[in-house]
Amino acid sequence: MGQEKVVILGTGGTIAGRADSQSQGVGYRAGQITVQSLLSAVPDLEQHARCPLQALQIAQVDSKDMDWPIWRALLAACLQALASPDTRAVVITHGTDTLEETAWLLHRLLPATKPVVLTCAMRPATALLADGPQNLRDAVTVAARGGRAGVWVVAGGEVHAAQHVQKVQPYRLNALSSPEGGPLALVEEGVVRWLVPAGAAAPSHEGLQQLDALLALPCLPWVEVVFSGALARADAVDALVAAGVRGIVVAGTGNATVHAAMESALLRARALGVRVWLGTRCAQGLPVGPAPLENEVAQPSDLARLPIAKARIALMLELAVQSLS
Ligand code: ASP
Repeated sequence: MGQEKVVILGTGGTIAGRADSQSQGVGYRAGQITVQSLLSAVPDLEQHARCPLQALQIAQVDSKDMDWPIWRALLAACLQALASPDTRAVVITHGTDTLEETAWLLHRLLPATKPVVLTCAMRPATALLADGPQNLRDAVTVAARGGRAGVWVVAGGEVHAAQHVQKVQPYRLNALSSPEGGPLALVEEGVVRWLVPAGAAAPSHEGLQQLDALLALPCLPWVEVVFSGALARADAVDALVAAGVRGIVVAGTGNATVHAAMESALLRARALGVRVWLGTRCAQGLPVGPAPLENEVAQPSDLARLPIAKARIALMLELAVQSLS
């Protein structure tokens, strides 16, 4: 067995973004700079990790355009790294826009045997005060020296759990947050200070048994989000069902409640075999009890106990796994 290494997988994002001038923080092109160049921007990175780093370019996209082929390639690369005795941990550079979705996907599907750490930036790599290099250094710190298996997100000196992290701000440096419980650790001067006991936040699990079969699927089942609020209508739901949608996540009001005008369409959708999950559009907190749809009390399994963006991916995966059995 060789010396253990940390594998760094590049997928693009603002952290790899290039702008025309150093002062340009918006209007840059994401996913331009190679992951190898990102490592070179932090000269002491390998020394700090105390082990070799291996860079692999998986994709080069703005994460708003994340797609299933890239997720498949990323999952395959993570699986290979987790299975290799020569790999201590994985770091993934990623855009902030859909980072919470990728983090949740990896958390749900991969065995929690080693650290898998996602990081990102809000300013392009060409910015005068780019945040990417420090975030990358902190991510490598958590991966190589943090000592905890599981999927983590590192940005702005904070370590977040994949289940809870959300992008909450479109511009500022502290754009990521965990509204349900805050960060689980802080990275200070190259040292990780955990705020919760080991195992408290990321229970060890074996990953998805049918992962190979899932990776062979050409796409995941179609799931959409509909928003309930003042003047909500049935038409959007009916149109989705007519177009062949397989699952609907409702960004509902308060404790996952739905406008009466939309409720009847959701019941029709259910009767036709479309899975309907009820979530909340509130920025913080999750639904806490069974939310009634007219004539029917929703089962706890119908409640989306995840932020809406993650619930949408969760329902795709649930439908995909069902299709495999
Ligand atoms: N649009 C960028 C992306 O998600 C935003 C970012 O990385 O901050 O790739």
